[in-house]
Amino acid sequence: MHNPHDPFRELCTLAAGGLLTPEETRTLHEHLAHCESCRAFYDEMCALHRLLQLSVPESFE
Ligand SMILES: [Zn+2]
Repeated sequence: MHNPHDPFRELCTLAAGGLLTPEETRTLHEHLAHCESCRAFYDEMCALHRLLQLSVPESFE
């Protein structure tokens, strides 16, 4: 029942927000290198994060 990709999905979410340590970033990228489904999820999270940033007025100073 437990999805082995779940921890990486969480890292993807954090990475999109720039919240990963260099070590976590490396772990994630090693997984993304051979996991297409997490890579797609990561792209999605990055796109979503960009949209969210655009909707936050404070990011325009
Ligand atoms: Zn994966």
